[in-house]
Amino acid sequence: MPSIFSRIVSGEIPCHRIAEDEHHLAFLDINPLARGHTLVIPKDETDYIFDIDDERLSALMLFAKMVGLGIERAIPCKRIGITVIGLEVPHAHIHLIPINSISDMEFSRPKLTLSHEELANIADQIRSELKG
Ligand code: AMP
Repeated sequence: MPSIFSRIVSGEIPCHRIAEDEHHLAFLDINPLARGHTLVIPKDETDYIFDIDDERLSALMLFAKMVGLGIERAIPCKRIGITVIGLEVPHAHIHLIPINSISDMEFSRPKLTLSHEELANIADQIRSELKG
């Protein structure tokens, strides 16, 4: 059975899309730790990120860098925190989170509750920073 993220890639499940190329997709986390919390995934489904071959892992990280710099321009923050957990969804993904302090990376904190409209606005802001 395809992962929930493969179902997002295929368009079966909607997402707030940030960026996409042939092999990668970035979209907003639906239960964000911070405004702009984004997930970056390879379109090919692999559970554990270290099972991805070196070339594709490098490409995934470079795609995440491009997206992260766009988030940084769109969302006021000290920097973009990067983490990989993968305990919930068995499809490799990188979390990009705008942070101001180490506690902003604490996944056991309560998540933000953002409306569809708020998420759509955030995605718009980030996408506009990635243009050009
Ligand atoms: P983890 O696998 O532990 O890194 O956590 C999976 C992350 O995916 C969590 O932060 C969830 O909020 C997020 N997530 C799960 N389903 C969706 C979805 N349909 N759209 C966006 N984010 C999701």
